[in-house]
Amino acid sequence: MVILPLALDALRDPEKWDKEWDTIIERQFLSSQAPDFCFESMLTEHQYGPAGVDQALASYQGQLASTCAVQRNLTEDALGYFISRNLEAKWMRAGGDVRGEHILRGMATVCNKARNLNQARCYTPELRLARLRLDGKVFLDLLKSAMLDDASFIPATPKYISHRHWDRFEAAQGPRNDTDAKKMALAEVLLLRTKLICHVLQFTLRSFFGLELPEFCVVKEHKSIQGRKTHPLAPLHEANLEAALGPEAARAYMKGDKQGAKARISQRVAHCSYLGCHNSEPTDGSVKFSRCKQCFDLMQRQVLYCSGKCQKADWKLRHKAVCGKPMDFDAVSVPVVHPTSVRDADTRIGLPTNGFRRPPGLVLQVTQLNKSPTVDYYLYRDGNEQALDFGQGTYEQDLFRAHREEAMTSGNRGCVALMAHYMCWMIAGETPERAQGITQNMIVAQLAREYDFPSLRGEVLRMQEIQNRDPLRRPPLHRDTSPYRWRRAIEGTNAFERVVTLD
Ligand SMILES: [Zn+2]
Ligand SMILES: [Zn+2]
Repeated sequence: MVILPLALDALRDPEKWDKEWDTIIERQFLSSQAPDFCFESMLTEHQYGPAGVDQALASYQGQLASTCAVQRNLTEDALGYFISRNLEAKWMRAGGDVRGEHILRGMATVCNKARNLNQARCYTPELRLARLRLDGKVFLDLLKSAMLDDASFIPATPKYISHRHWDRFEAAQGPRNDTDAKKMALAEVLLLRTKLICHVLQFTLRSFFGLELPEFCVVKEHKSIQGRKTHPLAPLHEANLEAALGPEAARAYMKGDKQGAKARISQRVAHCSYLGCHNSEPTDGSVKFSRCKQCFDLMQRQVLYCSGKCQKADWKLRHKAVCGKPMDFDAVSVPVVHPTSVRDADTRIGLPTNGFRRPPGLVLQVTQLNKSPTVDYYLYRDGNEQALDFGQGTYEQDLFRAHREEAMTSGNRGCVALMAHYMCWMIAGETPERAQGITQNMIVAQLAREYDFPSLRGEVLRMQEIQNRDPLRRPPLHRDTSPYRWRRAIEGTNAFERVVTLD
Protein backbone atom coordinates (compact mmCIF):
# COMPACT_ATOMS: atom_id res chain seq x y z
CA MET A 1 0.00 0.00 0.00
CA VAL A 2 1.15 3.52 -0.80
CA ILE A 3 0.84 6.14 1.90
CA LEU A 4 0.45 9.53 0.30
CA PRO A 5 2.14 12.51 1.93
CA LEU A 6 -0.41 14.86 3.45
CA ALA A 7 -1.24 18.27 2.05
CA LEU A 8 -0.91 19.59 5.59
CA ASP A 9 2.73 18.48 5.78
CA ALA A 10 3.61 20.46 2.68
CA LEU A 11 4.02 23.59 4.79
CA ARG A 12 4.78 21.86 8.12
CA ASP A 13 7.82 20.09 6.81
CA PRO A 14 8.33 20.76 3.10
CA GLU A 15 11.62 18.85 2.75
CA LYS A 16 10.25 15.68 4.26
CA TRP A 17 6.97 16.01 2.37
CA ASP A 18 8.82 16.40 -0.92
CA LYS A 19 11.16 13.45 -0.27
CA GLU A 20 8.18 11.22 0.36
CA TRP A 21 6.56 12.29 -2.88
CA ASP A 22 9.80 11.83 -4.72
CA THR A 23 10.00 8.21 -3.61
CA ILE A 24 6.47 7.55 -4.80
CA ILE A 25 7.02 9.21 -8.17
CA GLU A 26 10.25 7.37 -8.68
CA ARG A 27 8.60 4.05 -7.97
CA GLN A 28 5.77 4.83 -10.37
CA PHE A 29 7.51 6.33 -13.30
CA LEU A 30 11.07 5.22 -13.22
CA SER A 31 10.84 1.65 -12.09
CA SER A 32 11.16 -1.11 -14.65
CA GLN A 33 7.44 -1.68 -14.33
CA ALA A 34 5.46 0.02 -17.04
CA PRO A 35 3.74 3.09 -15.62
CA ASP A 36 0.59 2.09 -17.49
CA PHE A 37 -0.34 -0.16 -14.66
CA CYS A 38 -0.49 2.73 -12.21
CA PHE A 39 -2.45 4.91 -14.60
CA GLU A 40 -4.87 2.10 -15.19
CA SER A 41 -5.65 1.84 -11.51
CA MET A 42 -6.34 5.58 -11.37
CA LEU A 43 -9.02 5.27 -13.96
CA THR A 44 -11.08 2.55 -12.40
CA GLU A 45 -14.62 3.44 -11.60
CA HIS A 46 -14.36 3.20 -7.86
CA GLN A 47 -12.65 6.55 -7.89
CA TYR A 48 -16.14 8.00 -7.92
CA GLY A 49 -18.94 7.15 -5.55
CA PRO A 50 -22.39 6.41 -6.99
CA ALA A 51 -23.37 10.10 -7.32
CA GLY A 52 -19.76 10.99 -8.00
CA VAL A 53 -19.71 10.62 -11.76
CA ASP A 54 -22.58 13.03 -12.24
CA GLN A 55 -21.01 15.54 -9.87
CA ALA A 56 -17.68 15.22 -11.59
CA LEU A 57 -19.31 15.74 -14.98
CA ALA A 58 -21.29 18.70 -13.65
CA SER A 59 -18.20 20.44 -12.35
CA TYR A 60 -15.99 19.56 -15.30
CA GLN A 61 -16.70 22.64 -17.43
CA GLY A 62 -15.96 24.86 -14.47
CA GLN A 63 -12.69 23.04 -13.89
CA LEU A 64 -11.83 23.30 -17.54
CA ALA A 65 -12.44 27.04 -17.49
CA SER A 66 -10.50 27.63 -14.30
CA THR A 67 -7.52 25.64 -15.60
CA CYS A 68 -7.52 27.74 -18.78
CA ALA A 69 -7.59 30.90 -16.68
CA VAL A 70 -4.69 29.70 -14.52
CA GLN A 71 -2.69 28.95 -17.65
CA ARG A 72 -3.41 32.40 -19.06
CA ASN A 73 -2.34 34.07 -15.80
CA LEU A 74 0.88 32.09 -15.79
CA THR A 75 1.56 33.14 -19.38
CA GLU A 76 0.99 36.82 -18.65
CA ASP A 77 3.28 36.69 -15.62
CA ALA A 78 5.97 34.79 -17.50
CA LEU A 79 5.96 37.15 -20.50
CA GLY A 80 6.70 40.02 -18.14
CA TYR A 81 9.62 38.12 -16.60
CA PHE A 82 11.07 37.02 -19.94
CA ILE A 83 10.82 40.42 -21.58
CA SER A 84 11.37 42.95 -18.79
CA ARG A 85 13.14 41.07 -16.03
CA ASN A 86 15.63 39.01 -17.93
CA LEU A 87 14.30 35.75 -16.50
CA GLU A 88 16.35 33.41 -18.65
CA ALA A 89 19.75 34.78 -17.63
CA LYS A 90 18.83 35.35 -13.97
CA TRP A 91 17.41 31.87 -13.54
CA MET A 92 20.43 30.19 -15.15
CA ARG A 93 22.82 32.23 -13.00
CA ALA A 94 20.95 31.60 -9.75
CA GLY A 95 22.40 28.18 -9.00
CA GLY A 96 20.67 24.98 -7.91
CA ASP A 97 20.22 25.86 -4.25
CA VAL A 98 18.43 29.12 -4.88
CA ARG A 99 16.31 27.64 -7.65
CA GLY A 100 15.44 24.67 -5.45
CA GLU A 101 14.39 26.88 -2.56
CA HIS A 102 11.85 28.73 -4.71
CA ILE A 103 10.57 25.64 -6.50
CA LEU A 104 9.99 23.85 -3.19
CA ARG A 105 8.24 26.88 -1.76
CA GLY A 106 6.04 27.05 -4.85
CA MET A 107 5.15 23.35 -4.75
CA ALA A 108 4.48 23.30 -1.03
CA THR A 109 2.29 26.40 -1.05
CA VAL A 110 0.19 25.16 -3.96
CA CYS A 111 -0.22 21.59 -2.71
CA ASN A 112 -1.18 22.80 0.73
CA LYS A 113 -4.23 24.49 -0.73
CA ALA A 114 -6.17 21.51 -1.96
CA ARG A 115 -6.11 17.78 -1.48
CA ASN A 116 -6.56 17.09 -5.16
CA LEU A 117 -3.62 19.29 -6.10
CA ASN A 118 -1.45 17.54 -3.53
CA GLN A 119 -2.53 14.16 -4.87
CA ALA A 120 -1.95 15.28 -8.43
CA ARG A 121 1.77 15.00 -7.76
CA CYS A 122 1.26 11.30 -8.50
CA TYR A 123 0.48 12.16 -12.09
CA THR A 124 3.13 14.81 -12.48
CA PRO A 125 6.60 13.32 -12.86
CA GLU A 126 7.74 16.67 -14.28
CA LEU A 127 7.70 18.21 -10.81
CA ARG A 128 10.72 16.48 -9.34
CA LEU A 129 12.77 18.89 -7.32
CA ALA A 130 16.15 17.30 -7.97
CA ARG A 131 15.74 17.50 -11.72
CA LEU A 132 14.17 20.94 -11.83
CA ARG A 133 16.69 22.64 -9.60
CA LEU A 134 19.89 21.11 -10.89
CA ASP A 135 19.59 22.17 -14.50
CA GLY A 136 17.95 25.57 -14.88
CA LYS A 137 17.11 24.76 -18.49
CA VAL A 138 14.75 21.94 -17.48
CA PHE A 139 12.57 24.38 -15.55
CA LEU A 140 12.62 26.97 -18.33
CA ASP A 141 11.65 24.33 -20.90
CA LEU A 142 8.76 23.21 -18.74
CA LEU A 143 7.68 26.82 -18.38
CA LYS A 144 7.76 27.39 -22.14
CA SER A 145 5.76 24.25 -22.81
CA ALA A 146 3.13 25.31 -20.25
CA MET A 147 2.76 28.86 -21.59
CA LEU A 148 -0.05 29.65 -24.00
CA ASP A 149 0.83 30.78 -27.52
CA ASP A 150 -1.34 33.86 -27.17
CA ALA A 151 -2.28 35.49 -23.88
CA SER A 152 -4.82 37.93 -25.32
CA PHE A 153 -7.75 35.66 -24.49
CA ILE A 154 -8.70 32.72 -22.30
CA PRO A 155 -8.86 29.63 -24.51
CA ALA A 156 -11.70 27.10 -24.47
CA THR A 157 -9.35 24.20 -23.79
CA PRO A 158 -6.05 24.29 -21.97
CA LYS A 159 -2.77 23.57 -23.66
CA TYR A 160 -1.99 20.14 -22.23
CA ILE A 161 1.57 19.52 -21.24
CA SER A 162 3.11 16.68 -23.11
CA HIS A 163 4.84 13.84 -21.27
CA ARG A 164 5.94 10.69 -23.05
CA HIS A 165 4.29 8.24 -20.62
CA TRP A 166 1.06 10.18 -20.48
CA ASP A 167 0.90 10.76 -24.21
CA ARG A 168 1.34 7.08 -24.92
CA PHE A 169 -1.20 6.09 -22.32
CA GLU A 170 -3.75 8.59 -23.52
CA ALA A 171 -3.34 7.52 -27.13
CA ALA A 172 -3.97 3.91 -26.16
CA GLN A 173 -7.17 4.71 -24.29
CA GLY A 174 -9.79 5.36 -27.01
CA PRO A 175 -11.78 2.11 -27.20
CA ARG A 176 -10.88 1.10 -23.66
CA ASN A 177 -12.57 4.16 -22.26
CA ASP A 178 -16.04 2.80 -22.66
CA THR A 179 -17.76 4.41 -19.68
CA ASP A 180 -18.27 8.01 -18.68
CA ALA A 181 -16.53 7.27 -15.41
CA LYS A 182 -13.36 6.21 -17.20
CA LYS A 183 -13.46 9.08 -19.65
CA MET A 184 -14.05 11.49 -16.82
CA ALA A 185 -11.25 10.11 -14.70
CA LEU A 186 -8.71 10.47 -17.50
CA ALA A 187 -9.95 13.97 -18.34
CA GLU A 188 -9.74 15.05 -14.71
CA VAL A 189 -6.25 13.66 -14.30
CA LEU A 190 -5.04 15.49 -17.40
CA LEU A 191 -6.62 18.72 -16.20
CA LEU A 192 -5.20 18.41 -12.72
CA ARG A 193 -1.72 17.77 -14.10
CA THR A 194 -1.95 20.93 -16.17
CA LYS A 195 -3.32 22.98 -13.33
CA LEU A 196 -0.75 21.81 -10.79
CA ILE A 197 2.17 22.43 -13.13
CA CYS A 198 0.92 25.91 -14.05
CA HIS A 199 0.31 26.90 -10.44
CA VAL A 200 3.70 25.64 -9.32
CA LEU A 201 5.49 27.47 -12.13
CA GLN A 202 3.63 30.67 -11.34
CA PHE A 203 4.26 30.50 -7.58
CA THR A 204 7.91 29.61 -8.07
CA LEU A 205 8.53 32.58 -10.33
CA ARG A 206 6.71 35.00 -8.05
CA SER A 207 8.81 33.75 -5.17
CA PHE A 208 11.99 33.99 -7.26
CA PHE A 209 11.34 37.65 -8.09
CA GLY A 210 10.34 38.48 -4.52
CA LEU A 211 6.73 39.19 -5.42
CA GLU A 212 3.67 38.37 -3.41
CA LEU A 213 2.26 34.93 -4.07
CA PRO A 214 -0.93 35.11 -6.13
CA GLU A 215 -4.40 34.95 -4.67
CA PHE A 216 -5.59 31.43 -4.98
CA CYS A 217 -9.17 30.33 -4.60
CA VAL A 218 -10.26 26.75 -4.46
CA VAL A 219 -13.82 26.35 -5.53
CA LYS A 220 -16.14 25.19 -2.82
CA GLU A 221 -17.81 21.88 -3.51
CA HIS A 222 -21.31 21.07 -2.54
CA LYS A 223 -21.71 19.13 0.72
CA SER A 224 -22.85 16.02 -1.10
CA ILE A 225 -19.54 15.66 -2.90
CA GLN A 226 -17.07 16.95 -0.36
CA GLY A 227 -14.55 14.23 0.24
CA ARG A 228 -16.17 12.00 -2.36
CA LYS A 229 -12.94 10.80 -3.73
CA THR A 230 -10.44 8.52 -2.19
CA HIS A 231 -7.23 8.19 -4.04
CA PRO A 232 -7.11 4.97 -6.05
CA LEU A 233 -3.49 4.32 -5.17
CA ALA A 234 -4.05 4.87 -1.49
CA PRO A 235 -7.57 4.38 -0.26
CA LEU A 236 -7.73 5.67 3.27
CA HIS A 237 -8.85 2.70 5.29
CA GLU A 238 -7.89 2.91 8.89
CA ALA A 239 -7.18 -0.79 9.05
CA ASN A 240 -4.73 -0.59 6.17
CA LEU A 241 -3.02 2.42 7.63
CA GLU A 242 -2.66 0.69 10.97
CA ALA A 243 -1.12 -2.36 9.41
CA ALA A 244 1.39 -0.22 7.58
CA LEU A 245 2.24 2.36 10.21
CA GLY A 246 1.22 0.99 13.57
CA PRO A 247 -1.78 2.30 15.53
CA GLU A 248 -0.31 5.53 16.83
CA ALA A 249 1.10 6.80 13.56
CA ALA A 250 -2.06 5.76 11.73
CA ARG A 251 -4.16 7.86 14.10
CA ALA A 252 -1.87 10.84 13.65
CA TYR A 253 -2.08 10.47 9.88
CA MET A 254 -5.86 10.38 9.89
CA LYS A 255 -5.97 13.35 12.20
CA GLY A 256 -3.60 15.31 9.99
CA ASP A 257 -5.67 14.50 6.94
CA LYS A 258 -8.89 15.67 8.59
CA GLN A 259 -7.30 18.74 10.11
CA GLY A 260 -5.85 19.78 6.78
CA ALA A 261 -9.16 19.22 5.02
CA LYS A 262 -11.02 21.32 7.56
CA ALA A 263 -8.58 24.19 7.29
CA ARG A 264 -8.70 24.08 3.51
CA ILE A 265 -12.47 23.87 3.27
CA SER A 266 -12.87 26.92 5.48
CA GLN A 267 -10.83 28.92 2.95
CA ARG A 268 -12.90 27.91 -0.02
CA VAL A 269 -15.13 30.25 -1.87
CA ALA A 270 -18.10 29.76 -4.15
CA HIS A 271 -17.86 31.37 -7.57
CA CYS A 272 -20.52 32.64 -9.88
CA SER A 273 -21.02 29.94 -12.55
CA TYR A 274 -21.01 32.32 -15.50
CA LEU A 275 -17.66 32.18 -17.27
CA GLY A 276 -17.57 35.89 -17.97
CA CYS A 277 -18.01 36.81 -14.28
CA HIS A 278 -15.35 36.83 -11.59
CA ASN A 279 -17.59 37.37 -8.57
CA SER A 280 -17.35 35.03 -5.64
CA GLU A 281 -19.56 34.69 -2.61
CA PRO A 282 -18.32 36.76 0.35
CA THR A 283 -16.80 34.44 2.94
CA ASP A 284 -18.43 36.35 5.83
CA GLY A 285 -21.80 35.01 4.71
CA SER A 286 -23.26 38.48 4.17
CA VAL A 287 -24.48 37.60 0.69
CA LYS A 288 -25.68 34.20 -0.51
CA PHE A 289 -25.63 33.48 -4.23
CA SER A 290 -28.81 32.05 -5.64
CA ARG A 291 -28.70 28.61 -7.18
CA CYS A 292 -30.37 27.11 -10.20
CA LYS A 293 -33.49 25.55 -8.73
CA GLN A 294 -34.02 23.02 -11.48
CA CYS A 295 -30.49 21.63 -11.12
CA PHE A 296 -30.71 21.41 -7.35
CA ASP A 297 -34.17 19.89 -7.21
CA LEU A 298 -33.65 17.31 -9.92
CA MET A 299 -29.96 16.49 -9.64
CA GLN A 300 -28.79 17.90 -6.27
CA ARG A 301 -26.39 19.95 -8.30
CA GLN A 302 -25.14 23.24 -6.96
CA VAL A 303 -25.01 25.85 -9.73
CA LEU A 304 -24.58 29.33 -8.26
CA TYR A 305 -25.04 32.78 -9.74
CA CYS A 306 -24.27 36.22 -8.32
CA SER A 307 -27.14 37.82 -10.23
CA GLY A 308 -30.03 37.22 -12.58
CA LYS A 309 -27.99 38.83 -15.32
CA CYS A 310 -25.25 36.22 -15.03
CA GLN A 311 -27.76 33.41 -14.85
CA LYS A 312 -29.36 34.61 -18.05
CA ALA A 313 -26.04 34.98 -19.84
CA ASP A 314 -24.89 31.53 -18.75
CA TRP A 315 -28.19 30.00 -19.82
CA LYS A 316 -27.55 31.13 -23.36
CA LEU A 317 -23.88 30.29 -23.34
CA ARG A 318 -23.97 26.76 -21.96
CA HIS A 319 -26.36 26.00 -19.13
CA LYS A 320 -29.47 25.40 -21.25
CA ALA A 321 -27.93 22.24 -22.64
CA VAL A 322 -27.29 20.62 -19.27
CA CYS A 323 -29.80 22.14 -16.84
CA GLY A 324 -31.43 19.52 -14.64
CA LYS A 325 -30.36 16.74 -16.98
CA PRO A 326 -28.12 13.80 -16.29
CA MET A 327 -24.73 14.60 -17.75
CA ASP A 328 -22.68 12.64 -20.17
CA PHE A 329 -19.05 13.09 -21.00
CA ASP A 330 -19.52 14.01 -24.65
CA ALA A 331 -21.83 16.88 -23.70
CA VAL A 332 -19.57 18.40 -21.07
CA SER A 333 -16.34 18.01 -23.02
CA VAL A 334 -17.48 20.27 -25.86
CA PRO A 335 -15.25 23.34 -25.52
CA VAL A 336 -17.12 26.50 -24.56
CA VAL A 337 -15.58 29.65 -25.94
CA HIS A 338 -14.94 32.12 -23.17
CA PRO A 339 -17.33 35.09 -23.51
CA THR A 340 -14.54 37.63 -23.24
CA SER A 341 -12.83 36.11 -26.28
CA VAL A 342 -15.70 36.03 -28.73
CA ARG A 343 -15.46 39.71 -29.60
CA ASP A 344 -12.24 39.65 -31.59
CA ALA A 345 -12.14 36.02 -32.68
CA ASP A 346 -12.42 36.94 -36.39
CA THR A 347 -9.44 39.25 -36.62
CA ARG A 348 -7.24 37.29 -34.26
CA ILE A 349 -3.86 35.98 -35.39
CA GLY A 350 -4.14 32.19 -35.41
CA LEU A 351 -2.47 29.66 -33.15
CA PRO A 352 0.79 28.01 -34.25
CA THR A 353 0.54 25.05 -36.61
CA ASN A 354 2.75 22.08 -37.46
CA GLY A 355 4.50 22.04 -34.12
CA PHE A 356 5.89 25.56 -34.41
CA ARG A 357 6.73 26.85 -30.94
CA ARG A 358 6.58 30.59 -30.38
CA PRO A 359 9.48 32.04 -28.40
CA PRO A 360 8.28 34.25 -25.50
CA GLY A 361 9.03 37.46 -27.42
CA LEU A 362 6.71 36.38 -30.20
CA VAL A 363 3.97 35.34 -27.75
CA LEU A 364 4.13 38.88 -26.37
CA GLN A 365 3.94 40.44 -29.85
CA VAL A 366 0.96 38.24 -30.83
CA THR A 367 -0.79 38.97 -27.52
CA GLN A 368 -0.41 42.71 -27.94
CA LEU A 369 -1.49 42.69 -31.57
CA ASN A 370 -4.56 40.64 -30.76
CA LYS A 371 -5.46 43.05 -28.01
CA SER A 372 -5.17 45.97 -30.47
CA PRO A 373 -6.34 44.62 -33.83
CA THR A 374 -5.77 47.91 -35.70
CA VAL A 375 -2.01 47.80 -35.12
CA ASP A 376 0.15 45.99 -37.69
CA TYR A 377 3.31 45.54 -35.62
CA TYR A 378 4.83 46.75 -32.38
CA LEU A 379 8.40 48.00 -32.45
CA TYR A 380 10.20 48.34 -29.14
CA ARG A 381 12.83 50.78 -28.02
CA ASP A 382 14.06 50.91 -24.41
CA GLY A 383 10.88 49.35 -23.12
CA ASN A 384 8.67 51.81 -25.03
CA GLU A 385 6.57 50.55 -27.85
CA GLN A 386 5.71 52.16 -31.12
CA ALA A 387 2.70 51.00 -33.10
CA LEU A 388 3.11 50.47 -36.84
CA ASP A 389 -0.12 50.99 -38.75
CA PHE A 390 -0.44 50.72 -42.54
CA GLY A 391 -3.97 52.06 -42.56
CA GLN A 392 -7.25 50.27 -42.10
CA GLY A 393 -8.16 48.01 -45.00
CA THR A 394 -5.44 49.25 -47.38
CA TYR A 395 -3.71 47.03 -49.93
CA GLU A 396 -0.45 47.50 -48.05
CA GLN A 397 -1.99 46.32 -44.82
CA ASP A 398 -3.50 43.21 -46.40
CA LEU A 399 -0.17 42.35 -47.99
CA PHE A 400 1.79 42.86 -44.80
CA ARG A 401 -0.71 40.95 -42.67
CA ALA A 402 -0.74 37.95 -44.99
CA HIS A 403 3.01 37.56 -44.41
CA ARG A 404 2.64 38.32 -40.71
CA GLU A 405 0.06 35.57 -40.29
CA GLU A 406 2.27 33.04 -42.06
CA ALA A 407 5.34 34.04 -40.02
CA MET A 408 3.50 33.97 -36.70
CA THR A 409 1.63 30.71 -37.19
CA SER A 410 4.21 28.59 -39.00
CA GLY A 411 7.45 30.40 -38.19
CA ASN A 412 8.13 30.65 -41.96
CA ARG A 413 11.55 32.29 -42.15
CA GLY A 414 11.10 33.62 -45.66
CA CYS A 415 8.11 35.63 -44.44
CA VAL A 416 10.02 36.88 -41.41
CA ALA A 417 12.84 38.12 -43.66
CA LEU A 418 10.38 39.85 -46.03
CA MET A 419 8.65 41.61 -43.12
CA ALA A 420 11.89 42.60 -41.43
CA HIS A 421 13.32 44.02 -44.64
CA TYR A 422 10.11 45.88 -45.39
CA MET A 423 9.92 47.49 -41.95
CA CYS A 424 13.59 48.49 -42.18
CA TRP A 425 12.97 49.96 -45.62
CA MET A 426 10.05 51.99 -44.31
CA ILE A 427 12.04 53.32 -41.37
CA ALA A 428 14.86 54.25 -43.78
CA GLY A 429 12.46 56.73 -45.40
CA GLU A 430 11.38 58.42 -42.18
CA THR A 431 12.80 61.55 -40.62
CA PRO A 432 14.49 60.89 -37.26
CA GLU A 433 11.56 62.53 -35.44
CA ARG A 434 9.01 60.32 -37.15
CA ALA A 435 11.10 57.21 -36.55
CA GLN A 436 11.24 58.09 -32.84
CA GLY A 437 14.70 56.69 -32.43
CA ILE A 438 13.88 53.32 -33.94
CA THR A 439 16.66 52.18 -36.25
CA GLN A 440 16.91 49.46 -38.85
CA ASN A 441 19.32 47.56 -36.62
CA MET A 442 16.83 47.60 -33.76
CA ILE A 443 14.13 46.14 -35.99
CA VAL A 444 16.35 43.31 -37.16
CA ALA A 445 17.51 42.58 -33.61
CA GLN A 446 13.92 42.56 -32.36
CA LEU A 447 12.64 40.17 -35.01
CA ALA A 448 15.70 37.92 -34.69
CA ARG A 449 14.76 37.57 -31.01
CA GLU A 450 11.04 37.15 -31.59
CA TYR A 451 11.44 34.38 -34.14
CA ASP A 452 14.63 32.92 -32.69
CA PHE A 453 16.32 33.63 -36.05
CA PRO A 454 19.99 34.57 -35.41
CA SER A 455 20.92 34.79 -39.12
CA LEU A 456 18.13 37.24 -39.93
CA ARG A 457 20.55 40.11 -40.59
CA GLY A 458 22.11 38.27 -43.53
CA GLU A 459 18.68 37.43 -44.92
CA VAL A 460 17.56 41.06 -44.75
CA LEU A 461 20.67 42.16 -46.67
CA ARG A 462 19.92 39.49 -49.26
CA MET A 463 16.41 40.95 -49.61
CA GLN A 464 18.02 44.33 -50.28
CA GLU A 465 20.09 42.82 -53.10
CA ILE A 466 16.93 41.44 -54.65
CA GLN A 467 15.33 44.85 -54.39
CA ASN A 468 18.37 46.47 -56.03
CA ARG A 469 17.99 44.18 -59.05
CA ASP A 470 14.33 45.09 -59.60
CA PRO A 471 14.05 47.94 -62.12
CA LEU A 472 10.99 49.19 -60.21
CA ARG A 473 12.86 48.92 -56.91
CA ARG A 474 10.00 47.10 -55.22
CA PRO A 475 10.87 45.71 -51.80
CA PRO A 476 10.57 41.90 -52.14
CA LEU A 477 7.41 41.93 -49.98
CA HIS A 478 5.86 43.76 -52.95
CA ARG A 479 7.28 41.37 -55.55
CA ASP A 480 3.81 40.56 -56.88
CA THR A 481 2.48 44.11 -56.78
CA SER A 482 1.71 45.26 -60.34
CA PRO A 483 3.96 47.95 -61.82
CA TYR A 484 0.94 50.22 -62.19
CA ARG A 485 -0.11 49.88 -58.57
CA TRP A 486 3.47 50.25 -57.40
CA ARG A 487 4.07 53.49 -59.34
CA ARG A 488 0.86 54.90 -57.87
CA ALA A 489 1.85 53.87 -54.36
CA ILE A 490 5.24 55.57 -54.41
CA GLU A 491 4.27 58.67 -56.37
CA GLY A 492 5.80 61.74 -54.80
CA THR A 493 7.82 59.76 -52.22
CA ASN A 494 11.52 59.14 -51.86
CA ALA A 495 10.99 55.38 -52.30
CA PHE A 496 13.67 55.11 -54.99
CA GLU A 497 16.44 56.40 -52.78
CA ARG A 498 15.64 54.29 -49.73
CA VAL A 499 18.08 51.48 -49.02
CA VAL A 500 18.40 49.12 -46.10
CA THR A 501 21.90 49.27 -44.64
CA LEU A 502 22.75 47.41 -41.47
CA ASP A 503 25.76 47.66 -39.14
ZN1 LIG B 1 -21.88 36.63 -11.83
ZN1 LIG C 1 -29.79 24.43 -14.02
